[in-house]
Amino acid sequence: MATSDNNRRKFIATTLQSVGLTALGGLLWSGYSDEVKASALVLRPPGAIKEEDFLKACIKCGLCAEACQNRETNIDRHTGLSKAGTLQMAKGGDHQLIGTPFFVPTEVPCYMCEDIPCVPVCPSGALDQLSVSNEAGELDINKSRMGLAVVHKESCIAFWGIQCDACYRACPLLGEAITIEMHRNERTGKHTFMLPIVHDTVCTGCGLCEAACVTEKPAIFVLPNEIAKGVAGDHYVKGWDKADEARIENAKAEETVTELSKEGTAAGYLNSGDLY
Ligand code: SF4
Ligand code: SF4
Ligand code: SF4
Repeated sequence: MATSDNNRRKFIATTLQSVGLTALGGLLWSGYSDEVKASALVLRPPGAIKEEDFLKACIKCGLCAEACQNRETNIDRHTGLSKAGTLQMAKGGDHQLIGTPFFVPTEVPCYMCEDIPCVPVCPSGALDQLSVSNEAGELDINKSRMGLAVVHKESCIAFWGIQCDACYRACPLLGEAITIEMHRNERTGKHTFMLPIVHDTVCTGCGLCEAACVTEKPAIFVLPNEIAKGVAGDHYVKGWDKADEARIENAKAEETVTELSKEGTAAGYLNSGDLY
């Protein structure tokens, strides 16, 4: 009788353990899935390929983050101590896919190193050296598109009429990625609004502007390109832009060629009305 009680106790204990482990596994998995789902706003290192492909290509080796952490400029010239680098490898709770590199501009922005040490060390192609190289094949950090800075007009004090150009001055592409537009302040009648305007063909998404913004929560912030940018659609044409008009003409010509080539097929023959 005692043996049968022991067996039953053992059975219940084992069952509870398995249930516990399964539940724990479930919790860990759901946590992991949440990290994956929560990654839409993540900012990747320079040269990162499209996020969807990046997640498949990145082997989570951490070489880019290591290269970034070991930059010479991370060493304080006076104390010889190392300062925090830009790239971090995601761990549980970072709301990014665990083990992948990312950065948070308000913590440490990307300093747009001229030699881009983080990119050539990537062994998997997740960071594409060509995308950050110029026509001469030299590394050119200005070609990187880590994201796009967006200004929230309602919280940017320059849009209130208060003079502020902290973001403009912090931008390494001074006067190109952000320009200041002057507008008369009709409310006071005697002042000028000096408004920061971001240019998406130049902004690299380094986040130096976000880190420098004077408001309590930055009024300028970097978003991944897919989120920051809209898409007008192919059917809208810029009437004043010859290249855009040519795009429509080319598309029409392509359609005609496709139609003509269909006529040469069996289906084209059947539809030509030449059957007697
Ligand atoms: S460019 Fe420099 S600061 Fe920016 S991520 Fe690469 S190593 Fe770090
Ligand atoms: S993210 Fe900001 S600082 Fe960096 S290039 Fe763009 S506008 Fe300039
Ligand atoms: S630093 Fe911030 S508040 Fe100042 S102009 Fe730039 S976005 Fe506006």
